[in-house]
Amino acid sequence: MAIATVNPTTGKTEQEFTPHDDAEVARRLRLAADAFAAYRRTTFAERARWVLSAAALIEGEVPDIARVMTTEMGKTFAAAKGEVAKCATALRWYAAHAEDYLADETVATSASDSRIAYQPMGPVLAVMPWNFPMWQVIRFAAPALMAGNVGLLKHASNVPQTALIIEDLFRRAGFPEGVFQTLLVESGRVAAIIEDPVVRAVTITGSEAAGRSVAETAGRAIKKSVLELGGSDPFIVLPSADIERAISVGVTARVQNNGQSCIAAKRFIIHADVYDRFEKGYVEAMAALGVGDPMDPATEVGPLATETGRADIDELVRDAVDRGASVLCGGAAPEGPGWFYPPTVITGVTPAMRVEREELFGPVAVLYRVDDHDGALALANDSDFGLGASVWTSDPSEQAMFAEHLDVGMVFVNAMVASTPELPFGGIKKSGYGRELSAHGIREFCDVKTVFRA
Ligand code: NAP
Repeated sequence: MAIATVNPTTGKTEQEFTPHDDAEVARRLRLAADAFAAYRRTTFAERARWVLSAAALIEGEVPDIARVMTTEMGKTFAAAKGEVAKCATALRWYAAHAEDYLADETVATSASDSRIAYQPMGPVLAVMPWNFPMWQVIRFAAPALMAGNVGLLKHASNVPQTALIIEDLFRRAGFPEGVFQTLLVESGRVAAIIEDPVVRAVTITGSEAAGRSVAETAGRAIKKSVLELGGSDPFIVLPSADIERAISVGVTARVQNNGQSCIAAKRFIIHADVYDRFEKGYVEAMAALGVGDPMDPATEVGPLATETGRADIDELVRDAVDRGASVLCGGAAPEGPGWFYPPTVITGVTPAMRVEREELFGPVAVLYRVDDHDGALALANDSDFGLGASVWTSDPSEQAMFAEHLDVGMVFVNAMVASTPELPFGGIKKSGYGRELSAHGIREFCDVKTVFRA
C-alpha cells in the first residue's frame, strides 16, 4: 500500500510520501538504541516534564491536528478534536501516575530485602491503525515513554501526516533525539524491523491477519508482543433497561468514528419483550443521522476511511441480503465522490451469512431477538472475538451475572464500551492479548526484575 494521504471525502490523493529506505531505517534503529542507553537513566520527574510539555503543545494545536486527521481518514472534525484533547488527558495521566504504577514492590521472604522492580525494556515497535490515528499512538507512547522505553512508530500507510505530526510533537516537547521516531515503511517491512536485535518488543493494533503475522514474527524472535485486534461487540438490552437511552447510546456506539471502531457495538441482542420497541426506535434514529462532509458541524457520519473498507462493508451486507437477511434502513453505497456508506440496520441474520462471524467495520448494525437471558448470553459469547460488551438492565442480579459470564475483556453496564487511561483496555480470544492503559498497560513493556538481598 502506498504511503499517502488520500482524502476519503473526495477520493483524491493529496500527498504522497517516499518510504524510508533500508539505510534510513537502520540509522533510526541505531539512534533508538543510543537514545535508550541514556534515556533509561532519566528520572520519572524528567520524563514527566517532557510528557506534560507534549500535552500542552497538543492542547494548543487541537484544530490544526484534527483537520489533518479528518483529511486523512474522514472522521468528523468534531470527533477528531475530541480525540486530540483526549490524548492530552492521557499524557497528563501517565505523567502523574507512572511512578506509582512502577514503584518497587517489597515482598516478605527470608531475605533482609526482597523486591519486585519494573524496568524499561528498550526500543518498542508500535504498529498502529488509522481509525484513531492519534489516540492509538498516544495510548502506547504515554506509558511506554514514562516507563523509560523509547518508541518506534510504524503507522498505517494512509495516515502519514498524522504520524509525522506526532513525531514532531514529541521532538518539540523536548524529548532527547531518538526517543520517539516514526518509520515511514509499508507493512511488508515490519517483520524485518521486529527481527532487528535493537527492537525488544512489539505492540500492534489492527486486524486479525496483521496481528497473526506480527505475533508469528515476534514468536520466532522470542520477543514480547501485545495484540489489540478486532471485535464484534454485543450490545444486550433486557426488559428492565431504560430503552430510550439504550437506543440513543446504541446508535452512538455503532456509528462512532463512522462505524470504524474496534469497540463499536456490532451485534444488538434484544430481549423479545422489548424487541419491537427497540427496533422501531433504533431504525428511526439510524435513518435520521446526517451523513456528509466530515468538516460540516451538522454531519454525524462521514465517509469510510478507504475505498477497500467501503467495498468490504458493501460485500458483507450484500452477502447477508443474498442469503435472506432484511435491510431495515440503508444497505447500499451511494453514487458520487467519496467513500460514504449510510447507517444500516439488518435483521434475519443466520449462521450461513458472513456477518454472523466477521467484523462489520462500518456503520452497519445487526439486530437479534432472543427469548431469555441464557439465550442472550449464549449468543453474545458465540463469537471468535472477545473485546468488549455492553449490557443494559436495571436489575443488579442480571448486571452481576452478565459481568461475570460474558467472555470478553471489558464489560460495560448501562454504558457503551469506551477507553479511558484509568482502566485496562484489551480483549480475549481472537481480539488479542495483553492490555493497554492503567497500571497493566504500562507494565506490559517493563521487565519484571526480582531483587533479593540476603
Ligand atoms: P490493519 O490493516 O491490520 O492495519 C493495522 C496496522 O498494521 C497498519 O499499520 C498496517 O500497515 C499494519 N499491517 C497490516 N498488515 C500487516 C502485516 N501483515 N504485518 C505487519 N503489519 C501489518 O488494520 P486496519 O484496517 O488499519 O484497522 C482496522 C482493524 O483494527 C479492525 O480489525 C479493528 O477492529 C482493529 N482495531 C483494534 C483496536 C483494539 O484496540 N483492539 C483498536 C482499533 C482498531 P499498512 O497500513 O501499511 O498496511
